Amino acid sequence: MTDRYAVVGNPVAHSKSPLIHAEFASQTGQDLTYTTLLAPLDGFARSVREFQEAGGKGLNVTVPFKQEAWKLATSLTQRAELAQAVNTLKFDGATILGDNTDGAGLVRDITANLGFSVRGKKILLMGAGGAARGVILPLLEQYPALFAIANRTPDKAHELAQLFLPHGDISSGEYASLAGCHFDLVINATSSSLSGELPPLPAGVFSPGSLAYDMMYGKGLTPFLQFAQANGAAQLADGLGMLVEQAAESFFLWRGVRPETQPVMVLLKPKNGS
Ligand code: NDP
Repeated sequence: MTDRYAVVGNPVAHSKSPLIHAEFASQTGQDLTYTTLLAPLDGFARSVREFQEAGGKGLNVTVPFKQEAWKLATSLTQRAELAQAVNTLKFDGATILGDNTDGAGLVRDITANLGFSVRGKKILLMGAGGAARGVILPLLEQYPALFAIANRTPDKAHELAQLFLPHGDISSGEYASLAGCHFDLVINATSSSLSGELPPLPAGVFSPGSLAYDMMYGKGLTPFLQFAQANGAAQLADGLGMLVEQAAESFFLWRGVRPETQPVMVLLKPKNGS
């Protein structure tokens, strides 16, 4: 019987996940369908239960339900437990396993696709929301020399630094506190690019040879990437690779098969002039 998967969110119609997973399934010969599931803002748990009762095997979870999914899961991977956010649910009998594949997807994109080694490097993570939470542990596991979090609301950055303290030393604060500091990898995990804005980053944060990574995708050169380009970053990347790699991690969790991500990235990359 064909296995059923979906991405649940609100809104969710814009999601590229059905296309990505259809490509993965056809490439690996897996018999599955993958659709979108629009859950009412006050009805996430009900929507998940109905999907599961109808024979669904797993779900990706997107905005705004990642924290609710974390609460709903009956079993959690370590990375999801720490992130307090779940983007992948796997149903196994009565068990609902919750995982967070965002960080693994980001690390894989940075290391395997972009050829940037994180080990021994200085990392600046901008933002302290759901996306930032999900990537901290996988980044710390790459043994950076230094890890800093800056956020518009500094208390949220301090909270994250405390939460992850057993796994690594993290400095935290507001953007102004970064004056005079230089980083090899600067990751924009804020939603500022959505509204065409740029957090108040001091111009000197980009070390020579640095990589500037915006988790946002599909918006071309965002204000953050433009700023990075003008201020010495050597390499620029948007979040398309992370999107495809986190999907591949979820697919692997569900199916035990690792799909090729490059063909899907080529398919999703905006064509010049379009
Ligand atoms: P959240 O709403 O949870 O967090 C938003 C963060 O952005 C907060 O830290 C907030 O700061 C900060 N922020 C928002 N606007 C501004 C601004 N104008 N200036 C400075 N800081 C700002 O969002 P998520 O963490 O879920 O998502 C963040 C981004 O990551 C989105 O663009 C999303 O599309 C992207 N993403 C990409 C993925 C991928 O696969 N490529 C996966 C997941 C997310 P404050 O705390 O002060 O409010």
